[in-house]
Amino acid sequence: MTNNKIPPLVAIGWDGVTWDLLHPWIEEGKLPNFLALMERGSYGPLRSTPVPVSPAAWSTIITGQNPAKHGVFDWFARRPGRYDVEYVHTAHIRARPLWEYANQAGKRVGVLSLPMVYPAVPVEGFMFSGMAAPDAKSPGFAHPPEMLAELESEFGPYQLVEKHIYKYGREDEYLSGVLDWLEYQEKTIHYLIQKYPCDVYSLVFMQPDHVHHKLWRYGDEDFPGYDPKHDAQHKDAILEVYQALDDVLGRLVERFDEANYMVFSDHGAGPMHGVMHVNRWLQEEGLLHLQQNLSTKLKRWLAKTNVILRAYQLVAKLGLGNLAALVSKPARNKLVSSFLSFEDVDWSRTKAYARGAFGQIYINLKGREPGGIVEPGQEYERLCGDILSRLRDLKHPETGESLITGLKRKEDIYKGPYIDQAADIMFSIQDYLYQTSVKFGLESESILGRSEYEDSGTHREEGILVMAGPDIQQGKEISSAGLEDILPTTLALADIPVPAYIDGSPLEDIFEPTLKKRLRFIEEEEGDARQNEDQPPGMSAEEVSELEDRLRDLGYLG
Ligand SMILES: [Zn+2]
Repeated sequence: MTNNKIPPLVAIGWDGVTWDLLHPWIEEGKLPNFLALMERGSYGPLRSTPVPVSPAAWSTIITGQNPAKHGVFDWFARRPGRYDVEYVHTAHIRARPLWEYANQAGKRVGVLSLPMVYPAVPVEGFMFSGMAAPDAKSPGFAHPPEMLAELESEFGPYQLVEKHIYKYGREDEYLSGVLDWLEYQEKTIHYLIQKYPCDVYSLVFMQPDHVHHKLWRYGDEDFPGYDPKHDAQHKDAILEVYQALDDVLGRLVERFDEANYMVFSDHGAGPMHGVMHVNRWLQEEGLLHLQQNLSTKLKRWLAKTNVILRAYQLVAKLGLGNLAALVSKPARNKLVSSFLSFEDVDWSRTKAYARGAFGQIYINLKGREPGGIVEPGQEYERLCGDILSRLRDLKHPETGESLITGLKRKEDIYKGPYIDQAADIMFSIQDYLYQTSVKFGLESESILGRSEYEDSGTHREEGILVMAGPDIQQGKEISSAGLEDILPTTLALADIPVPAYIDGSPLEDIFEPTLKKRLRFIEEEEGDARQNEDQPPGMSAEEVSELEDRLRDLGYLG
């Protein structure tokens, strides 16, 4: 039963948006609709997950739980008893998500483009998958399924990501693809809202994150290798995307007579000057060893002679997605498998390895890893302490400054049943100025190297939050909110009781007294409350491979 007195809640996710870019542009009057919302409501920073990677962050946003309770830590998930990983999809989100709370309370929910949500799940309302979907044509992309055909007959083929991959020298083409994608998304949103109105909307825009990764250098004169002649021509590229988002926001706000709004990002953004080859460092430290067999030796030799690096750069330039049109699948697989990978690691002599783009080291632990050699307990503790102190001592090879920042161990930051999925040690590299290489980097002269994907921007820990509407006070400062507070705040605004087991809390300090009065907490257990224990179907091998290609093209995978 929908209570007509409760205004709809419109949650708008701007992936990766940062106050660092917003503030100067707001002051210059370039983002009028966003400023209007700020002036009507309250705003501040929003703390991301300890590893600020989108699937972990968005899973916390929709469940209110830390990653050890929802089970999503990165774009990949570890498989028990194996070293290889699988790519995250809806079934990996083990905590109750927004749509279950909303539907159970009789509220309709509209969900669009959450990056790790594929397949879409049956909801009262609608749901369209995000980037974890191999393709919009994949079964399970939308719920109800017929809505996809409906959108396509109105607006043409569904746009899941930008049409062109980024290449230096082809910036305009890339940017116009991003703006087209945004335009398509806006049209579908207005159509869906008008035809299938909901009580709660969760609408995600990935465009800002994509352009931060690819286009940061153009607006940053201090960026290494900045070319004033070429790069300055595109200095406003990211601004153009922010302004387009601002226009989209303005038209969305116009559509509703009265609504509560949340505009937020899952993490921030900043420049990226290169990558650290963490597996190479572990190898230098004697903690990771490669096999001595012929194929691995050959790959090492190829890596050192730069043949593979050049082949790799070619792949990165063309994009695996584009390469698919040119080269057969077996040839493509052969090329990719000629790079050194975890298959070349000698696990019987390896104590630690790195995986993921944001400083994550895993211990080769007996009983957890299939070929684990490190004993749990004392030996594990000693090794973690040893790695932490060696990381602490690491210096930037050129500047001599400390290289490693924000060292953490999983026990200090995560709490919950899925903690074994987490890396054992996490860190940032000069406060995210460098990402972790997703390659072994044996060809590199130094433990630091250039981005394999020509990326010039990456994530930061601090995102943004703006809230406005009839239930939100004006002019309050939001100072210590985290992603885990978004779900309970959403529930409160939608007039749904907030369960006590959620890690986050509603942001009561900025609620109007009327909302504070109707806010309800309940004590139920999450286990009893979960309705949908059925595992959605996994992906076919072909779907997985399409998805991997996309994630590689975007720089998320090695
Ligand atoms: Zn993100």
